[in-house]
Amino acid sequence: MRRAARRSASERLGARSFHHDGRTVEFELVRSDRRTLGLTVGRDGAVVARAPRRAREEDVVRWVAGHADWILRKQRNVAERAVLTPPRRFLDGELHLYLGREYRLTIERGGAERGPERVRFDGREFRVALDQDAPPERVAQLMDAWYMRRARTVLAERLDACWASFPGDGLPKPALRVKRMRSRWGSMSPAGAMSLRLDLVRAPVECIDYVILHELCHLLHRGHGREFWAMVGALVPDWKDRRKRLELLPA
Ligand SMILES: [Zn+2]
Repeated sequence: MRRAARRSASERLGARSFHHDGRTVEFELVRSDRRTLGLTVGRDGAVVARAPRRAREEDVVRWVAGHADWILRKQRNVAERAVLTPPRRFLDGELHLYLGREYRLTIERGGAERGPERVRFDGREFRVALDQDAPPERVAQLMDAWYMRRARTVLAERLDACWASFPGDGLPKPALRVKRMRSRWGSMSPAGAMSLRLDLVRAPVECIDYVILHELCHLLHRGHGREFWAMVGALVPDWKDRRKRLELLPA
């Protein structure tokens, strides 16, 4: 049977807040046809809680308040990162990250005359060859495509390396998807498919491996309980340090 009218995909219900250690923490509540609660802190520090349509509001607020320490840690990182790094504008001479190191961006306008517009990376710098009249946003598009190609290769290699040391006896190696995610570094679907964020290829290899091993541990432990963290700690003893470096990665 067909429904008479479809509800909108999600309802933004505006600002809510709770108190924690004498301060007020605000978040936006969004309801949709999901079954679980979700929480994100954006790269601007804004908090969004996502909830099933029927969840009681007081339960949602209590659940969000229970994550206060996590929210405040994320917001502190946003503030620290803002001090350390201005946003990227894809201008000549700017520095761009790849596997945790910064490389200079050199733009060669008119440099695409003997071939297509492209990014070349020689281990010392990025050289972007552009048509003479290419719009400025072309640099960002070409760099994004370059990062996506590299991410598919490098993250697959790191997954293979991590999988070799992972005690996943009998489980099949997860399929890998590289995605443009904004608030998370990775996720593991219930069917065992791993998603990793494109930006991860800008981070140091140790941070990439932490995210991959973290997600692999979710094959055996669904949530973030004590057993989950014990397993992460056994595989990556310095995981807190790696997570911190990842959270401070320039936006
Ligand atoms: Zn996790």
